[in-house]
Amino acid sequence: MQNDYEKVWSGCLTVIKDNISPNSFNTWFAPIKPVRLKNCILTLQVPSQFFYEWLEEHYIDLLKKTIKKELGPEGRLEYSIVMDNTYHANQTQPFTIHAPTLNRKALRNPPVNMPIDINRKENEGKKMLNPFIIPGLKKLNIHPQLIDSYNFDNFIQGDCNRLARSAGIAVGQNPGKTSFNPLLIYSGNGLGKTHLAHAIGIEVKNHFPEKTVLYVTAEQFTNQFIDSIRNNNQNDFVHFYQMIDVLIVDDIHCLAGKPKTQDVFFHIFNQLHQGGKQIIITSDMPPVEMSGIEPRLLSRFKWGLSADLQVPDFETRLAILQKKIRNDGVEMPEDVLELISAKISTNVREMEGALISILAQSSMNKKDITLKLASSVIDKFVKNSPREITIDYIQQAVCKYFGLPIDKLKSKSRKRETVQARQLAMYFSKLYTKSSLAAIGNKCGNKDHATVLHACKTVKNLIDTDKSFKQYVDELDNMINVG
Ligand code: ADP
Ligand code: MG
Repeated sequence: MQNDYEKVWSGCLTVIKDNISPNSFNTWFAPIKPVRLKNCILTLQVPSQFFYEWLEEHYIDLLKKTIKKELGPEGRLEYSIVMDNTYHANQTQPFTIHAPTLNRKALRNPPVNMPIDINRKENEGKKMLNPFIIPGLKKLNIHPQLIDSYNFDNFIQGDCNRLARSAGIAVGQNPGKTSFNPLLIYSGNGLGKTHLAHAIGIEVKNHFPEKTVLYVTAEQFTNQFIDSIRNNNQNDFVHFYQMIDVLIVDDIHCLAGKPKTQDVFFHIFNQLHQGGKQIIITSDMPPVEMSGIEPRLLSRFKWGLSADLQVPDFETRLAILQKKIRNDGVEMPEDVLELISAKISTNVREMEGALISILAQSSMNKKDITLKLASSVIDKFVKNSPREITIDYIQQAVCKYFGLPIDKLKSKSRKRETVQARQLAMYFSKLYTKSSLAAIGNKCGNKDHATVLHACKTVKNLIDTDKSFKQYVDELDNMINVG
């Protein structure tokens, strides 16, 4: 006979299974054990803190929906973290979070497992196999995961990217042999890091087809690593990475607050570097400003060259659009391209988005592409495109609101006003960014993940019980969202 909690959880699992890839399901849901159901609170046992954070960060919406479906609107979730079959040292009480309380954005892409041994018959048609479980995987069969169109031909040169681009070409033509090892490319969102990283990989392949190149995002790397822990094949994981000649890791800042993944990356980095292999990483920050990354890893990042990509000037923006439409074989009047380049000045990805919207509008409504049409699309586009909300941005808004210097918020001060401002910054960071609890804590006075969790709960409670506090929060919310 199944217990109540087992029944409820198995009902949840049926729904969850339909909503995520089998791979993510096996990684993140199969290891969960239901342990109790009391007062509409279902307690789930998870194998580690990291695991719980990951669920909380990536699957909260799904969990929220399924729990409510099974238990009604009162349904709540509680986690108990069990390591090595004993409770975590400082948690005699099961860890509690009220999953359905925080208002979360859409789920991110499910974890992806990458390279497959394409030559093996049984892998035909399978796209998401874990490379480590393939016995006898050969170097040459590792798929580099490069996107063909992200090449140097399509990467327009400008003052904004001169150093990064030429360093990239040098590395592509001579991987592991220049002093640019590692090559770290950093910039804000949508300014070409991913494109350039792929271009370097493609350049290597053009000059040295026999070299093993691999592009991964730091998120994929993390997921693979977690899979390997789960499957007890960490050695295979490390061994796999040792076969790579040119390793490209995109968005390395995603490793912030993940010490175990950083640790394994550190070892892989050292092995490759010592073996004269090339490493290319990208980040949204220069190494000096990266937080949540261990000093020994940061110091490695500084060994080679760090080059940034800046916002392109008008001529470069125009050239990027011209190249894009030529590649796509579409036509667009020059004055429309100029208008887009003039009006959208911060981010190449947004420019491309506007271009696509204009094309779509004109073809759907069978209208010619005129300046008037373009102008109305761009206006809507610029107004509606959400600004990216970062932890730094939230901290600034909170400090401005309370008239508090930002270094106070980042300090260890226990003064009441400071504590409250810090808690609000944590709350909004959890609400509006994809950062992990650990990464948020790290940026707000070097606190741990439990402190952030506590802050979120405190703020939530105060919103429910204290009217004037709720008013602050609403005003702040408005400030953060409207600017
Ligand atoms: P990031 O990784 O920095 O967020 P991406 O590399 O994804 O940015 O770039 C966003 C889009 O802008 C991509 O489609 C890319 O091809 C394009 N892009 C950025 N910089 C350039 C450039 N210098 N030349 C051509 N296209 C560019
Ligand atoms: Mg990118």
